[in-house]
Amino acid sequence: MSIAANLKHLWAELPEGVQLVAVSKFHPNEAIEEAYRAGQRIFGENKVQEMSAKYISLPKDIQWHFIGHLQTNKIKYIIPYVTLIHGVDSYRLLSEINKYAVKADRVVKCLLQIHIAQEETKFGFNYDECQTMLSQGTWKELSNVQICGLMSMASNIDNVDQIKKEFSQLHDFFLKVKQEYFSDFEYFTELSIGMSDDYKLAIEEGSTLVRIGSRIFGERYY
Ligand SMILES: *Cc1c(COP(=O)(O)O)cnc(C)c1O
Repeated sequence: MSIAANLKHLWAELPEGVQLVAVSKFHPNEAIEEAYRAGQRIFGENKVQEMSAKYISLPKDIQWHFIGHLQTNKIKYIIPYVTLIHGVDSYRLLSEINKYAVKADRVVKCLLQIHIAQEETKFGFNYDECQTMLSQGTWKELSNVQICGLMSMASNIDNVDQIKKEFSQLHDFFLKVKQEYFSDFEYFTELSIGMSDDYKLAIEEGSTLVRIGSRIFGERYY
């Protein structure tokens, strides 16, 4: 199947209120252009250099979402154009993003990354760490970042019940922090969960942003 056909198939499946982030990491500009011609506008990348190179050469109405682990020394390269930073996993990173956003005179939208998977290697706050950070409240003083929601990855396993459980606990946590900390911040609306193999489960558990790569562009060759 072609990229355009894969996209049409996915769009038809997404309920109202769920947006598709087409994860184009490791795929060439030609693949993104094909998706763009089919009508896709939101693309996700996980490497600063790769995303910036693509930003420069591709149409300017593309919305670039950074979905990788962001190192503080690279923030400045994406601040001028990034639409949403999904993987903010420390207060320090959030406040560094704010610093560069102030300099660039932009307000930058971010998601807090929560670690819900069984694997040790994935980045993110655990629930307690996130709650502690939010209750400290200093994030409210960061004038040029907006915490728009949460992002996470489920365990990389075939056990549907386990994945459902992880997503559903995250959804509960999302609703809880939304009520406790963000009742005055109407932009706290996004739950970024779901990839090629688990996006249907994620949608059932309240996803508003699915991040899908291989199901659109095919396998990646690293
Ligand atoms: C690569 C990646 C995806 C997309 O993965 P697929 O399985 O190809 O859909 C989604 N989210 C993040 C954070 C990724 O790094």
